[in-house]
Amino acid sequence: VPIVAIVGRPNVGKSTLFNRLVGRKLALVDDRPGVTRDRREGEVRLGGLHFRILDTAGLEEAEADSLAGRMRAQTEAAIAEADAVLFVIDARAGLLPADRPFAELVRRSAKPVILLANKAEGGAGLSGAYEAFGLGLGDPVPFSAEHGEGVGDLHDALAAVLPEADEEDEEGAGSRPLKVAIVGRPNAGKSTLINRMLGEERLLVGPEAGITRDSISLDWVWRGHRIKLHDTAGMRRRARVDDKLEKLAVSDGLRAVRFAEVVVVLLDATIPFEKQDLTIVDLVEQEGRALVMGVNKWDLVADQPGLLKELREKATRLLPQVRGAAVVPLSGLAGQGVDRLMQAVVATAEVWNRRVPTARINQWLSEATQANPPPAVSGRRIKIRYATQVKARPPHFALFGNQLGALPKSYTRYLVNGLREAFDLPGVPIRLSLRTSK
Ligand code: GDP
Repeated sequence: VPIVAIVGRPNVGKSTLFNRLVGRKLALVDDRPGVTRDRREGEVRLGGLHFRILDTAGLEEAEADSLAGRMRAQTEAAIAEADAVLFVIDARAGLLPADRPFAELVRRSAKPVILLANKAEGGAGLSGAYEAFGLGLGDPVPFSAEHGEGVGDLHDALAAVLPEADEEDEEGAGSRPLKVAIVGRPNAGKSTLINRMLGEERLLVGPEAGITRDSISLDWVWRGHRIKLHDTAGMRRRARVDDKLEKLAVSDGLRAVRFAEVVVVLLDATIPFEKQDLTIVDLVEQEGRALVMGVNKWDLVADQPGLLKELREKATRLLPQVRGAAVVPLSGLAGQGVDRLMQAVVATAEVWNRRVPTARINQWLSEATQANPPPAVSGRRIKIRYATQVKARPPHFALFGNQLGALPKSYTRYLVNGLREAFDLPGVPIRLSLRTSK
C-alpha cells in the first residue's frame, strides 16, 4: 500500500485533513500510554485509491526548545518514507516565511508532491492559493479539510502520482508463495533434502495436486504455507558442461540467493563452516535476504549436543551481520528435522517482512541514546533526533539528526545491535541510513 505524508507548518490544518481523510475509523497507531505520540498513521480509501497516510502534526505539542529540530527531523522522516507528499498551506493566510523550510524539504526530496491550499471553502483564500504557485511545487489544489470541499480534485491529483496498488499486497502477504532457496557446497545434501521435502508433500497432497515445476522453481505447500523452492538441481542440469565447476557453484549460489526471500545455507555436519559457506552468507547479507542455517547429515554426528553448541557459538561469532540466525540440525536422508527447518524458515520470513511502528522505534531510540549517548565530535554533540523504519525485506531504518556522518562505526553497530534486540530481528541483515540536516 503506498504511503502519503502530510507535511506543512503548524496550523495549516494538517490534523483536520488527516481526520477528514481517515474518517470515522480514525486509526491511531500505537496510541498507548508511555509511547511517544508524535505521529499518527491511518488507512485511507478514496474513490478507487487505497493508501496509508502519515500525519506529522502531533509534534506541534512537543516541548518548545526542541520543537524546530524535532519537527524538521520528523518531517524529513515522513517524506523519506512516503511515495507522495501532501504539502499543505493555509490559503487564507497566504504564504508565510514559516512555510518555506517545509517547501524546501519537499522540493529536495524529489518525491511527487501535491500542493494543497487548505481553508479555501467557498472560494475563500484564492489569492493565497495563487501565491503558492511561486513555490514551484505545481498547481495548488483548493481544499477545505473542515468542510470537505475539493475532495474530488484531491483524488484526481493523488491518482496521478500514486503507484498502482499492488494487488498481491492487497490480498495480504500470506497468500503469496514464500521464495526459498537451499544453497550450499556440492555434496552438502541439497538435492537429497529437496527430494525429501517434495516427496513428503506428494504423500500429503496426492499425485495430481502435487508439485508443479517451472524452469527455476518448484511450488509446494508446507503446512498451509505456499512455498516456491529454488530448483537447485535443475540449475545444474542446464549448466554448460564446460563451465568451471567452482565458478558455477558461485554463480549458481548467487542466482539462488537473488531468487529467494529466505536462504537456507545447508552445512555438511562433517565439515561445517567451510569458506564457501561463509561466502554464501556474505551474499545473503549483500542481497538483503533472510538466513537460516541447516546442518545436514546429522545422523553421522556422534556428539550431537556438543556439536550443536559449538556450531551455535560459531554462528554467533562468524555471522554477526545476520546475528541470531536459526541453526537447525537435520538429516535429509533420514527425513529428520525437516519440519523444524521449515518452521525456522517461516519464522525468519516473518522477521524479514516486519514493520516496527515509528513510535516504538523512537521510544527505543531515546532510551538507547540516554544509556549510551553519541560521542562529541570536535566539541559538538552529535544529535540523533528521530528514527523510522523506511523499508522492510530486510528491515531498513533511517536516523535523522545533526552530524550523523561523524558517528563512529562502533556507535552505529551499537544501534543496529540494539534494534535487533529490542525488536527481535534475528537472522536478517539490518540496514541503517544516516540522514543529516545541515
Ligand atoms: P548436493 O550436491 O548438495 O545436492 O548433495 P546430494 O543431495 O547430491 O548429496 C550428496 C551425498 O550426501 C549423497 O551421497 C547423499 O546420499 C548424501 N547425503 C545427503 N544428505 C544426507 C544426510 O542427511 N545424511 C547422510 N548420512 N548422507 C546424506
